[in-house]
Amino acid sequence: MQGSVEMNQITMAFGANLVLRGVDLTVKGGEVTALLGANGAGKSTLIKVLSGLYPNHGGQIMIDGKPVQLETPSDAKKLGLQTVHQRIGEGVVPGLSVAENLLFEKIARNALGRVGSIRQIMPKALEVAESLKLGWSEKFLRKDVYELGIADQQMLILARALIEKPKLLILDEPTSALSAAEVDNLMGVIRGMRNEGVGILYVSHRLGEIDTIADKLVVLRDGVIRGEQDKPFEWNTALGQMLGEDTLQEIQSNIEMRGDESILQINDLSLFQRSSPFSLSLRKGEVTGVIGLLGSGKTEIAESIFGAAKKRSGNMTFEGQAFRPRHPRDAIRMGVFMIPEDRASSSMFPNWSIAKTTSLPFLSQLSKGPNVGVGAEKLRASEIIQELQIVAEGPDQEVDSLSGGNQQKVVVGRWLKGKPKLLILDEPFRGVDIGARRTISLQARELSKSGAGVLVLTSEVDELLEIADRVIVLVDGEPKLDKYLSETSREEIVHEMSEVI
Ligand code: ADP
Ligand code: MG
Repeated sequence: MQGSVEMNQITMAFGANLVLRGVDLTVKGGEVTALLGANGAGKSTLIKVLSGLYPNHGGQIMIDGKPVQLETPSDAKKLGLQTVHQRIGEGVVPGLSVAENLLFEKIARNALGRVGSIRQIMPKALEVAESLKLGWSEKFLRKDVYELGIADQQMLILARALIEKPKLLILDEPTSALSAAEVDNLMGVIRGMRNEGVGILYVSHRLGEIDTIADKLVVLRDGVIRGEQDKPFEWNTALGQMLGEDTLQEIQSNIEMRGDESILQINDLSLFQRSSPFSLSLRKGEVTGVIGLLGSGKTEIAESIFGAAKKRSGNMTFEGQAFRPRHPRDAIRMGVFMIPEDRASSSMFPNWSIAKTTSLPFLSQLSKGPNVGVGAEKLRASEIIQELQIVAEGPDQEVDSLSGGNQQKVVVGRWLKGKPKLLILDEPFRGVDIGARRTISLQARELSKSGAGVLVLTSEVDELLEIADRVIVLVDGEPKLDKYLSETSREEIVHEMSEVI
């Protein structure tokens, strides 16, 4: 078949672990094929097979109907298969400028300049940046890649793949580090490529994104393709194939809970100078979800409650008593915990074990009593690993070697173990696969059933619908809608969110 990449019965094993069990998949030119699957399904492994990283795989790959052997990454590239891998760090070359990284393939092939000859390659770099509408100046192109944020690094790696005019462009979870505007930009680039006849294999666990960009949807579970669909997609079917029917029923049987007793009362709080003050009561026994676009004030609400914000107007009571946290430790002492948005920089240290990471905020408790020190720490971590179904070797494994979803479970687990009275989760599902998302949302619901208050801040409607009993839409620092989930609809929530006057 012309303009296609066909995989027949692809298998791949790591030791005794058979990760791909006979994958059949065809990606056609001029189409976006989305590959959906939970953490550990084998998506990245399949992609690595296609990029020439696993020459010892089983099965056959055909390009335009002809069998090919992908022994090395450069074989794959020569045949027009370009991959943007999930871990961006694997793609950029440290110590080199943005321009050199952009043109790296050409330089490596001796088709242009050489490393260190930045003046020589700058005209070409500027031309490429212009043609891909990257908006990058000469100054930017001269920077060392390590000065770039993750989003820019991501764009750089993508741009480098695009320069090579691929036949098949493979993107492994390309949006996990991007803002909404950057995602829009990326979608535009992908559409452009598709219209030029490039085939695109798009790996993601974000249903909304797949719905926007994909023409075809393929679901992988446990190393086998479980379903294929053309647009418009039947999401219930796809989720069933992705998670297995049992799990799906569990999610759908979640019953909305309504609390009655207030745990935290906020009075006359104004989040921004331009916004009007509002009052709000968070109740025990229900999960309150606050949804809003970037800059709507979600993080500001969380920080006001958690004592991490500068003084704002208004006042609060917690369990009926005046509550004025000046510092997060004041909030923690009262049983108010927060899981911040940016877990990597603010809640974890590289090279720390799961045991150390989970006990960090509770060191004083753990060093008291008979189970002093390390033993207690490890026991606690083992319990967290079990309760949150964290895929890890044990409490001694380092947190940075875990997948994003498992890292987030570690952070959530550590606070759940501290028995919060009110738990605030700020964007708990960012960079997290749907399996981990489900575990975390079930745990949040369990916590609220036990009588605690739970506040979740998110910008994604799907996540809100999954986790919240009560929904508050925040626009420009003010609540615009406050209803139980069964009293509102996705349409109403989206309408209110996008109502910017
Ligand atoms: P996904 O991208 O769908 O989350 P992966 O392809 O990364 O899944 O992983 C699938 C399975 O293969 C996991 O159980 C993972 O632990 C295992 N795996 C992936 N890469 C390796 C490797 N290099 N060595 C051993 N096991 C691996
Ligand atoms: Mg992966």
